[in-house]
Amino acid sequence: MSSAEEKAGECVVCCHRCGEILMESVIASSHMVCPGCGARVSINVKNGKVSVFDDTRSADEMARKRSVRLAGYAAKLGRGTL
Ligand SMILES: [Zn+2]
Repeated sequence: MSSAEEKAGECVVCCHRCGEILMESVIASSHMVCPGCGARVSINVKNGKVSVFDDTRSADEMARKRSVRLAGYAAKLGRGTL
C-alpha cells in the first residue's frame, strides 16, 4: 500500500504530524486545518515542491485577515514604512 508514492507525478500533501493526506494536486500555497489531528498547517508550493509547516498565525489573526482583508493590507503597508 503505497498510494502516495504511486502518485509521483502529482503533489500529495500529508500532515507532518499525523500523516493524514491534506490535499492532492496542490497548485497554490494555502493554509488549512488537518482533518486527522486538527493542526493548523501552512502549505507552501515553490518550484513544484511542496512543503508543510505549522501555521504559526494565531486564530485571532486569521479571523481578522479574513473579515477585513483590505484593512489588513493597509496595516501591512503601514508597518512596512515604519
Ligand atoms: Zn494531522
